[in-house]
Amino acid sequence: MYRIANVTVVDPRDGSVTAHQDLRIDGGRIAWIGATTGPDRDPTTVDGRDRFVVPGFVDMHAHPLNLDDPAPELGLMLAFGITGYRQMSGTPALLRRLRDRQPVDDATPRLLATPGSVLTPINAGKPAAAVAEVRRQVRDGADFIKAALITPDVYFAVQAEADRLGVPVAGHLPAGVDVRAASDAGFRSIEHVGPGLGVLAGCSCHEEHLRTTTSGSPIKAPPFRIPFADRLAERVLRKIVVNPAQLTGPATLRSTRDAIDSFDEGKARDLARRFAENDTWNCPTLIRVKAQQFCDEPAFAADPDLRYATAGERKAWNSAAAAFHRKFDDAQHAVFAEQFALQLRVVKILDEEGAPLLAGTDAVGAAWVVAGASLHDEFDLLAEAGLDPVRVLRTATTDPTRFLHRERDAGTVEAGKEADLVLLDGDPTTAVANLRTVSAVVRGGRYHDTAALTALKERATGR
Ligand SMILES: [Zn+2]
Repeated sequence: MYRIANVTVVDPRDGSVTAHQDLRIDGGRIAWIGATTGPDRDPTTVDGRDRFVVPGFVDMHAHPLNLDDPAPELGLMLAFGITGYRQMSGTPALLRRLRDRQPVDDATPRLLATPGSVLTPINAGKPAAAVAEVRRQVRDGADFIKAALITPDVYFAVQAEADRLGVPVAGHLPAGVDVRAASDAGFRSIEHVGPGLGVLAGCSCHEEHLRTTTSGSPIKAPPFRIPFADRLAERVLRKIVVNPAQLTGPATLRSTRDAIDSFDEGKARDLARRFAENDTWNCPTLIRVKAQQFCDEPAFAADPDLRYATAGERKAWNSAAAAFHRKFDDAQHAVFAEQFALQLRVVKILDEEGAPLLAGTDAVGAAWVVAGASLHDEFDLLAEAGLDPVRVLRTATTDPTRFLHRERDAGTVEAGKEADLVLLDGDPTTAVANLRTVSAVVRGGRYHDTAALTALKERATGR
């Protein structure tokens, strides 16, 4: 049991702040909150004066558990204020490991949900095979099904089977699927605003044309089930993952131009209201989308947070940037830039119409997306899209909690809830940049002071 004394408590629900509060932390929970009894010499008291306490941040799109040794990345995430995350790709081995759940390590963020293997033509080429795969994954303990490169008939079969088994389907809108039909069918969260033209196509008055011209998967289905197919798919995916925009061909660029020129704000608002009605969430991962579409932007290569990436990652990301620079001419670069501006505008429209949003990054593996640090880049981009600071804070706190049905345990700083907290030196209700001023993190009740967070960053540096 210890006390955080004289701190300002921030409520992300309405942005209200209550100064001069004491928090008692006991057994991994917030045991009590009330007016401060003032400073004392008790060595177990943390001085919260001039500091703000918010719920720990959740990165709702991350891949740390695909690493052989995820410890440095998980430590980085914690150091940047992330106390929980949704893992967005699994393997049979990962599900097995989680089934005999090791005791919770309170020096890493909380794993909040994970799928099994991502669905691709290799494990889900045909509806029957996909349904069998869904059953296998749910039996093995997957919390949800991650759709990626699947065809429309496979998607609807997968959604029906997942509904029957009571698990959500989330991920990439399958190419060729009408986004409204996917929302109506129960697609739970759309990642990366698509990806590609995904959501933008649904906002275009050339929607049907765009849907039929932009499909085709970089992975082709094998004619029969091959041994080690999952591992093969993983290897292929890992290469694509660095920057999928690199695969964009002239036809897709023409369709992108078309989607930009035929954007219809009325349709966009109508789609956003449909998402709100159907409880279809969007996890736009704007930092990931930006890093793809502006891959050769010098600011990325000059980002000081790159010191937390491994030498191998930096090398792969620099060569991805060089390849992007070589492949696309100025006019094509401009199309990617305009697409991003429109993606930001769509995120703002989603928010204005009440479509729920989640903060996510796509760390680890994606070019220029550094674990932990990238969530703050995401905050900045959500602000750039036009969300106010408190709204941005909600996308990483109360909103993930609602999405994951964890309201009883998390999402606000209240007595009885998990002690997963971030202490900030700056007021997060007045400027989004103040979300970067993390000076301590509480995870499962354990207090990590500035020195401990610096040590976690040091551990990830120079690899
Ligand atoms: Zn991802």
